[in-house]
Amino acid sequence: MKLSIVVPCFNEEQNIEDFYDEIVSVLLHLDVDFQLIFSDDGSSDLTLRKIKSLSEQDQRVQYISFSRNFGKESAMLAGLTYSDGDAVIIMDADLQHPPQLIKELLRGYNEGYGQVIAKRNRTGESVPRSLLSSLYYKMMNNAVDVTFHDGVGDFRLLSRPAVNALLSLSEYNRFSKGLFSWIGFDEKIVEYENVLRTNGESKWSFSKLLNYGIDGIISFNNKPLRLSIYLGLSITLIGLVYIIYSLVSILINGIEEPGYFTIISAILLFGGIQLIFMGVMGEYIGRIYYETKRRPHFIVQDTNIHHLSPEKEKVKQ
Ligand code: UDP
Ligand code: MG
Repeated sequence: MKLSIVVPCFNEEQNIEDFYDEIVSVLLHLDVDFQLIFSDDGSSDLTLRKIKSLSEQDQRVQYISFSRNFGKESAMLAGLTYSDGDAVIIMDADLQHPPQLIKELLRGYNEGYGQVIAKRNRTGESVPRSLLSSLYYKMMNNAVDVTFHDGVGDFRLLSRPAVNALLSLSEYNRFSKGLFSWIGFDEKIVEYENVLRTNGESKWSFSKLLNYGIDGIISFNNKPLRLSIYLGLSITLIGLVYIIYSLVSILINGIEEPGYFTIISAILLFGGIQLIFMGVMGEYIGRIYYETKRRPHFIVQDTNIHHLSPEKEKVKQ
């Protein structure tokens, strides 16, 4: 069998060589043919140069380099598009995804699973961040149609049919956690200890994470729109009850003090709620806008992979 390892890299000059050494030493003991595909996501440091020099020494090292930074989702997609192994493993370049786990992922593949998912625990992570994450997952699983597991990221093995299924989803807004779950296939979960990044910086800031979280909810269904209908209906109902109550009270007691408090609270409350749902609708419209442009997910500036099957050329469009 042939294994493809897809590695999205964005400014990882400090990690490329260590990563390569580890992968090679792990795969040496496993009897598999492999290709190592680095997806350089428009790095501005020496990442590409380091990858190229590895590829000159070792033919199994391949690369795709983007014309600018398109984001990790696009980098993963490019790697998957260009891969031709019977199974593909996606992993980060920063050694936070332990290469030793490859053996277990392959075991799952040999047992016949379509997706073998690596799940990390949260040791060493700050308490607020893990609390926030677990809360998010709880909320998320109520809000969307697919299931998300806490601690599960992009580190996983996909069988060729699963990769083809992913590639057939051509949407522009890719939220891969959702896509992985959407395609289905038999899944096996393999656990590992959380590893903290040793070199370079994480590209995630709090605001990026927040945006990613909102993407997760919005990309996956139209429940937020449905929620706005329910909320609108309930508020209208409450409003009606209040109006009838006031009317009756006016009929019985006559008009009292004009109610400044009631009016101002109603204006504030309704104003806020309307803005929130205008935002929600705007999000969906924005997404439709991007989808209709049908722009490519990434633009390749340089690569040493030249053979793509015609069907994949089509997916790449
Ligand atoms: N990455 C990428 N493009 C980006 C940001 C990140 O290809 O725009 C890569 C990065 O090089 C790394 C992986 O995605 O291999 C995960 O990034 P990071 O370590 O910053 O995320 P974290 O581990 O903190 O979730
Ligand atoms: Mg990382």
